[in-house]
Amino acid sequence: MNLDRSLLGTGRKWGFRVLRHADLGLKHLLPGHCAFCLALPMSGQPWCDECFRALPWNHHACHQCAEPFSGDAYSLCGHCLKQPPAYDSARVGLRYEGEVALLIQRFKFNADPRAGALLVDLMHAGLQRLLPHELPQALIAVPRHPLRAREFGFDQALWITQHLARRLEIHCLVARRARRTPTQRGLDRSARLRNVQDAFAIDVALPAHVAVVDDIMTTGASLDGLAKACSIAGASRVEAWAAARTPLTSS
Ligand SMILES: [Zn+2]
Ligand SMILES: [Zn+2]
Repeated sequence: MNLDRSLLGTGRKWGFRVLRHADLGLKHLLPGHCAFCLALPMSGQPWCDECFRALPWNHHACHQCAEPFSGDAYSLCGHCLKQPPAYDSARVGLRYEGEVALLIQRFKFNADPRAGALLVDLMHAGLQRLLPHELPQALIAVPRHPLRAREFGFDQALWITQHLARRLEIHCLVARRARRTPTQRGLDRSARLRNVQDAFAIDVALPAHVAVVDDIMTTGASLDGLAKACSIAGASRVEAWAAARTPLTSS
């Protein structure tokens, strides 16, 4: 499987990046073997049961923002009680640590499509227990900051969103940046929220139930900004999805 050329932006720089890092991350993800330990999986999945169970699952998390915490299922964290985000709930199955952090780094920094495909498989596995009518009618990726898209050579959130939408057989719609914003890197939570205020726009009428998607959810500020744009474009229920959650306490 190749990364879609249409998503690559400045592809020449990306090509050099891949060649330079081609040796990294390739010893795993061999077809027919567990992506994490090279054992032969029994389940038909790209992982063995033991490695799958050992992943840093985000089972104990705030229902609305997926912040890892020790509360009961369906309870809310302090941030959401005080200042609820624009999205109604979050589905972020994994925490950004250990093997999952390494996998995301291989996808982002080495543009490794097999790492991306495995992330999509893991997100899809986390959604298996949803009934068809519980799925959103469309997915919308957080539009990458142009400087970051150029830096990485492709838009990771859009790549994940398009492949996940294809797996789930639901629409993938596109948002745009309504204005230029400084990069979120290095900003604290409140500064990130201010930075993406009115930053996104959607030019089509949305169905009632949608999910906004990013690769990593840190403070959730970008997902929050995009969720506001979804409400303006007609959605009445917005979920936030990401491959992995960085605990706020460590960001
Ligand atoms: Zn394994
Ligand atoms: Zn929360």
